[in-house]
Amino acid sequence: MANVSSKNPETQVLHAGYRADPATGAVAVPIYQTTSYQFRDTQHAGDLFALKELGNIYTRIMNPTCDVLEQRLAALEGGVAGLAVASGQAASALAIQNIARAGDNVVSSTDLYGGTWNLFANTLSNQGIEVRFVDPADPENFRRATDDKTRAYYGETLPNPKLTVFPIAEVAAIGKALGVPLILDNTAAPVLCRPLEHGANIVVYSTTKYIGGHGTSIGGLIVDGGNFDWEAHAERFPLLNQPDPSYHGAVWTQAVKPLGPIAYTVKARTTLLRDLGAALSPFNAFQIIQGLETLPLRIRAHSANALAVAEYLRDRPEVATVIYPSFHAGAEQRRRAETYLRGGLGGLVGFELKDGADAGRRFIDGLELFYHVANIGDTRSLAIHPATTTHSQLQPEEQIASGVSPGYVRLSVGIEHIDDILADLDRGLAASARLPRAAE
Ligand SMILES: *Cc1c(COP(=O)(O)O)cnc(C)c1O
Repeated sequence: MANVSSKNPETQVLHAGYRADPATGAVAVPIYQTTSYQFRDTQHAGDLFALKELGNIYTRIMNPTCDVLEQRLAALEGGVAGLAVASGQAASALAIQNIARAGDNVVSSTDLYGGTWNLFANTLSNQGIEVRFVDPADPENFRRATDDKTRAYYGETLPNPKLTVFPIAEVAAIGKALGVPLILDNTAAPVLCRPLEHGANIVVYSTTKYIGGHGTSIGGLIVDGGNFDWEAHAERFPLLNQPDPSYHGAVWTQAVKPLGPIAYTVKARTTLLRDLGAALSPFNAFQIIQGLETLPLRIRAHSANALAVAEYLRDRPEVATVIYPSFHAGAEQRRRAETYLRGGLGGLVGFELKDGADAGRRFIDGLELFYHVANIGDTRSLAIHPATTTHSQLQPEEQIASGVSPGYVRLSVGIEHIDDILADLDRGLAASARLPRAAE
């Protein structure tokens, strides 16, 4: 943190990593829209390339605007370093490619964002990285799927559509004993959940969602907890512990030791961003910083509105079930929500309409305030009927397995006035029930 140090998220998101531009005194974080940076002299240039000193070389690898975003999110998570990337997809891909290569495997929760599922089941698999999917309902499933080629565990804090919170401390403890780090996608629960405090080692974000909030900019971030001992598990992590031919034989755990426990992040930046090029643009970093500055306020407003929506839906005759973290039938699922989400349960609510797919379609078409989009985490309220959109390519039994019944509707509840949100849901439900069941 530049000058102001605080453990409070409301202060961190405004002050961490930046305080007045040294060149101009500008209070807002400037957009450093530059590709390259002049070296002071040849010694300086040499030291930067040799990683004796960290500093700016080229914007594909680092940028001062991205750096503020990285420092702010790292501060918010209690991590040691951050890496801004072009999208949430790039964040999850690089988080794994940084430590796994062909022949290795990763054990992942089955409850995943669709894009992550495709990345794991198809693209990483085509690259020779096997992803073993296990049900997180029983954390021991992670242990059972582990072998000496396992390089990471992967899960989502609050996956939709099921909205069952991931057993963070339980899986982290298994990984700690076996020497396997836990990577957690915290996109749906920033501020509410601090995964590193519960033992996770790497946090990934799509900043496109709640962190940006305004729905203008795609971006992603990897936060390094600095709490995994890569050196102690040198056999499992050759990429961090053996000489890297792509960086004049650097051994990452040794090369950056004087700079702190940031080997994972420095390697991802200097090799993967360098080679794969999924850099965040300074302009998008600026946009995401604008969102981040009000995130703690917004996430509480999203959570309060979503709770009111969940309670409203529970009492409606058209609705069979409401899916919400504190409404789960299972006591263990409710315990996880209470343990890992603090200060709110997030902005996502799911529900099943009694009358199935056609009612779902009519509900969506009856809405006026909610946007009908395949997105979450916008300040505006959003709705989608997965069976006819995001999950329509799946077989009916695959839809059910992923938690999508024909009448399932997903809401990302925004921060409009709650009266207007409930009035719109009223309109949607009235439309959903318009045709008598016999006519379907
Ligand atoms: C949207 C999303 C992603 C992917 O992020 P992009 O920024 O769209 O690439 C990953 N994980 C979760 C949970 C998401 O909601």
